[in-house]
Amino acid sequence: MKKAFNNIKEYAARFLFTQRCKYCGRVIDIRKESCDSCENSIKEITGAICFKCGKEKKKCDCKGQILFYEKLCAPYYYSGAIKALIWRFKFRNKPDIADFLAEQMAKCVVTRYEGYDFDLITYVPTTKKDVKNRGYNQAELLAKRFAEILDVPCENALVKNYETAPQHTLPEMKRSGNLLGVFEVNEKTDIEFKRVLLCDDVKTTGSTLNECAKTLLIGGAAEVFCVTVAITENEKTEKLVEKEDLSPDW
Ligand SMILES: [Zn+2]
Ligand SMILES: [Zn+2]
Repeated sequence: MKKAFNNIKEYAARFLFTQRCKYCGRVIDIRKESCDSCENSIKEITGAICFKCGKEKKKCDCKGQILFYEKLCAPYYYSGAIKALIWRFKFRNKPDIADFLAEQMAKCVVTRYEGYDFDLITYVPTTKKDVKNRGYNQAELLAKRFAEILDVPCENALVKNYETAPQHTLPEMKRSGNLLGVFEVNEKTDIEFKRVLLCDDVKTTGSTLNECAKTLLIGGAAEVFCVTVAITENEKTEKLVEKEDLSPDW
């Protein structure tokens, strides 16, 4: 009898303490946080970076665009387990994933923007229709959690007026034109003379962040810095990320 009881206890303990990979959700060794295949698929952005595109200097392919933000950084390239996690966060109604992603953004900002203080954190807005469809604006959730970690106020400084054609469907010359007048400053938020930190989930072409930064400057912000969870490594992934219904490729 005693033996059976022990087995049940053991069984219950195992059941209660099942450890799952934080990226893919597979059951894993209780002492680990993630599975090996996820760990191996993550591409962190390390070492010296180009603050215009946010990529490692050896991967920088900046083409001399006029940028309105001061600097941009992100902890990861958009690939593997990070890509899958962001996809679940955006399209599978898993708002709790914001906690982990925001922590990684915060770590990145503390190192990359050492010596800078920020007055305000804000995020790339979506239209009301989009929020209604998805249930939340993923950039807003990220920014709010991120702002709590950094202890900086977070406000919705921008408004998105209408939906735009996906950037990848347009030739490069038309990309910024596509965004003309899309964003405006939320008049209820005071951004004047403030150093603003602008958040989004993924940076693809950078046109959206740039347009948002421009709008914030026109609205009176002193400087805009950007941070995202991930950056697409090349044109191919840029095109994939903008197909919203794309599921992870593993
Ligand atoms: Zn995994
Ligand atoms: Zn660059």
